[in-house]
Amino acid sequence: MSLVVVGSVAYDGVETPHGKVDRMLGGAATYISLAASYFTPVKIVAVVGDDFAQADVDLLASRSIDLSGLERIPGGKTFFWSGVYSADMNDRTTLRTDLNVFADFNPKLPPSYRSEPFLLLGNIQPALQRSVRAQMTGVKFTGGDTMNLWIDIARPELLDAIREWDFLLINDSEAHLLSGEKNLRRAAAKILEMGPTALVIKRGEYGAVLFSKGSHFVAPGYLLEEVFDPTGAGDCFAGGFFGYLAGKGIEPKSGSIDFAEMRRAVIYGSVMGSFCCEKFGVDRFRDLTREEIEARYREFQACTAF
Ligand code: AMP
Repeated sequence: MSLVVVGSVAYDGVETPHGKVDRMLGGAATYISLAASYFTPVKIVAVVGDDFAQADVDLLASRSIDLSGLERIPGGKTFFWSGVYSADMNDRTTLRTDLNVFADFNPKLPPSYRSEPFLLLGNIQPALQRSVRAQMTGVKFTGGDTMNLWIDIARPELLDAIREWDFLLINDSEAHLLSGEKNLRRAAAKILEMGPTALVIKRGEYGAVLFSKGSHFVAPGYLLEEVFDPTGAGDCFAGGFFGYLAGKGIEPKSGSIDFAEMRRAVIYGSVMGSFCCEKFGVDRFRDLTREEIEARYREFQACTAF
């Protein structure tokens, strides 16, 4: 059983206080898939141009990520995004977004993807997220991500999409914007009324909070000594979180999801987000091992037990 992942596959330009890279592999679906692939087989749905390098295809394929849903547009250019981080790396300014082939992205799932039970909808237009879910014939567990842009310009479509999801992953500023509530707990309660059984609110370096009706779980961020590049950390959180659940075959039963497993999934999400920040772009995933992941998971247990 595989996790189907939809979203951007991109080239990124990134500048942090530790350095600058003009063009490297990026994109939300790339980060999600790489992180999830440590836990479960992944099938990617995305679009690239014919400038997409063989070395990048090889990296994804080396992690057993199924690329039959990676559409390549002849003569097209891959989505390009660039950004620069503030000195403390808590703020990011987007310098350039060239949608290129992503502008006409209309995901069509290969027949071999459609009967999979797990679906993670990365941050794309909500109407497209709905169309992907509608193409899945036996989906049992759906999660999704979104961003300020869609909350602002496509709220009705987003609400229609979220209603069909089992969980939603967003950051704290998006939770405030979506709910109209400044208080995190009240914001979460309002969002849970929009449909999902569970909600994960990511708080950058401060960790994440998992909410479901009547309960919540607070996970700290991993205290890294040095953050090189936070790009993709939120996506890696999502990949670790859902990858863990999919790998264990967890699915909602009678409208609820095993909360103990969800807590463990939040910790795996935090672990994968923290590894992502240790090197530029996807570089940490070139040599990261499952043993290192388990060691950091145990470290989380040790430093939060009381
Ligand atoms: P994150 O740091 O988790 O927000 O993810 C950053 C990744 O999102 C980068 O690799 C970008 O290529 C990708 N990205 C940036 N803007 C967009 C967008 N509008 N739609 C989809 N992906 C994007």
